[in-house]
Amino acid sequence: MKFSEDSSQAANYLRRAVPKMVEHDIVPNPLNYTLWYSYFSQAYPSLNKALEATVSRYGTCPVDVSESLFLEHIIQTDDQLSQNNKIQQSLVHLVSDLSGTIEKTSQETAVYSSALKENIMELGTSGLSDELVQKLNELSSNASGLCSTNEAFQSQLAQAQSEINALKQELEESQSQASTDALTGLANRRVFESIFTQHAHNDDMPMSVVMIDIDRFKNFNDTHGHLMGDQILQFVGKLLKQECPESVTPVRFGGEEFALLCPELGIDNVKDIAETIRTKLSKVAFSNKRTGERIEPVTASFGIAVKRSNEVLENLIERADKALYAAKNNGRNQVQLAS
Ligand code: GH3
Ligand code: MG
Ligand code: MG
Repeated sequence: MKFSEDSSQAANYLRRAVPKMVEHDIVPNPLNYTLWYSYFSQAYPSLNKALEATVSRYGTCPVDVSESLFLEHIIQTDDQLSQNNKIQQSLVHLVSDLSGTIEKTSQETAVYSSALKENIMELGTSGLSDELVQKLNELSSNASGLCSTNEAFQSQLAQAQSEINALKQELEESQSQASTDALTGLANRRVFESIFTQHAHNDDMPMSVVMIDIDRFKNFNDTHGHLMGDQILQFVGKLLKQECPESVTPVRFGGEEFALLCPELGIDNVKDIAETIRTKLSKVAFSNKRTGERIEPVTASFGIAVKRSNEVLENLIERADKALYAAKNNGRNQVQLAS
């Protein structure tokens, strides 16, 4: 049990969680409260690290990040997910095996039953005692009965199989929702981490990370409203999908930050992709459909870091982030390479 504390201990966590949430301007909704209660109760050590990193990065915990932390650390830890997958796979196998065995038995019984009937016909009943004829008929009708029972059982199994397949599909859909950002439809950082892990040990393959942060976006929201801001984020999501080759995974990293994970590509290629995105974004003028007002293009700054041998993701992102800050300090709307 993750939360087994008594009420005085629970009240103690509450007294610590609330001021922390106020200090970091975190919306006091049940989801956030669960996160911060768990933080002080130390129920999920990996959550504590992730929360600390988020607060030090953003000064707060943005709503979308809260949600993904909640899903990742509290609702569905990877262990549970893989456990669910295993159970689900074994169920599917069990039902298909059973279904196969029953089908075979059913066919064999049908063959046996009709052979029996034929033999009785061939044998003829003349010369046999009434008792024997009766027994042979019973044998034949028992075999036919077994056939129909098997068939009925088989159709029940087929139904169970289709229910399991439907559940499997629902589970896959909910897993895909947990790895997708609702506003932009891009993958989230969880996917980013898992793709990085898949490639991390292959030092022969080049890999880089591009961190992207929209310039002066707070100002944009203040001037044009949050809804318009959301449309810009959606546009950036589309642009990233459009401009990234297949091997590159674009993600919404949180808030107005995006990232590209670029395995397989050399640095020149990655720089070209970043430059193309930067230039295209800086040329698109928007308009407010409601008021007709014309809105100047928004720009973004980019930081690129190339993975070093044995480098962990945290470090790689930190270096890309430094390059991004250099791009901001240098005047924004530009791409900088990490040293
Ligand atoms: P800089 O050029 O230094 O990055 O300035 P900035 O204003 O973009 O940076 P800052 O970190 O001060 O502000 C980020 C802003 O991004 C504040 C927040 O309102 C906005 N933002 C974050 N997530 C969303 C979102 O989902 N929708 C909208 N509309 N705005 C968001
Ligand atoms: Mg930012
Ligand atoms: Mg910004």
